Amino acid sequence: MYTFDEQSIVQVKKILSSSKNIVIVAHKSPDGDSIGSSLGLFHYLEKLGCNVKVCHPDPAPYFLEWMTGFDQIIDAESQFEEVNKQVESADLIFCLDFNAMSRVGIMKEMLTKSDAFKIMIDHHLDPSDEFDLLFSETSSCSTAQLIVDFIEAMGDIDLLDVNIGEPLYCGIMTDSGSFRFPSVTAHTHEVIARLMRGGVEPYKIHEAVFDTNTFDKLRLNSYAINEKMEILDEFKTSIISLDKAELERFNYVKGDTEGLVNVGLSIQGIRKSIFLSEGDGIIKISFRSKGKDNPINVMAGTYFNGGGHANASGGRWDGTMEEAIAKIKSVLPEFN
Ligand code: 5GP
Ligand code: MN
Repeated sequence: MYTFDEQSIVQVKKILSSSKNIVIVAHKSPDGDSIGSSLGLFHYLEKLGCNVKVCHPDPAPYFLEWMTGFDQIIDAESQFEEVNKQVESADLIFCLDFNAMSRVGIMKEMLTKSDAFKIMIDHHLDPSDEFDLLFSETSSCSTAQLIVDFIEAMGDIDLLDVNIGEPLYCGIMTDSGSFRFPSVTAHTHEVIARLMRGGVEPYKIHEAVFDTNTFDKLRLNSYAINEKMEILDEFKTSIISLDKAELERFNYVKGDTEGLVNVGLSIQGIRKSIFLSEGDGIIKISFRSKGKDNPINVMAGTYFNGGGHANASGGRWDGTMEEAIAKIKSVLPEFN
């Protein structure tokens, strides 16, 4: 694996053998890939005999709670002191699925202060120089796929088992839109084959992630599509917005609007889809687009304090929902 060059892997092995406490961190607002790559690496390192903890900025959505090891994730929103203690005593920190310390929310300060050796494994564009060792591969569909490549480069592919493989399968599946984005390659499917040989049964992961809806979630999503979706034909764009009162009406819990942004993109002729939701004093925005000639991360980065992948990015707006939507409409002509 070219991402994991021999010299760096020798260095990783040396650091691993001398590290007493290892921490795995991933980005805030966790998703299938950040949780999947964290738990896959966690089970692998435990199998090597390492003392390892998974510490994340905030709690994970409920549709990932079936993963083995999920209950061992410590999050800083619920247990700040415990996370701080783990980071302070760590001599090695794996930074997964993010490209800069600005993506770890309330863990940023403790991570920046820490003297631990920091290894980043990630697939986002423009990695920062805040890490000691960088494994950045922006062509990879997911960080979870990179974790399999990493395990292979370490010479440990035979260690893959169900515990390591299931969260990694989930990370690849969710970040690749169930194997449909342009980022999916023959190598992706080779990696999946390896995970299956390790005992992973794909149908179980698909059921665990996609067939655990609550009635409230389906009603919220139906409402959003039926009442709130706006189609801007001129810009081949779909917009959905949900404010706090609307979310509360359907007893919203984290994860209930996951994937809603993709519904807009599934409409014939639509090339961009934007979903806005009101959080605590902030409007969170998800951007999706279709086609290699139609990146949307530029819009997210230029106007909405965000960024991400060419076809899947995020951002935010400090202001009202109306202002955010008006801003989107005013800048769309630039990206047509
Ligand atoms: P989502 O819409 O699912 O929250 O995010 C889609 C993608 O954009 C994810 O890969 C996520 O990591 C990335 N992303 C979301 N918010 C931000 C942001 O504020 N900055 C950057 N650089 N990437 C983001
Ligand atoms: Mn990812």
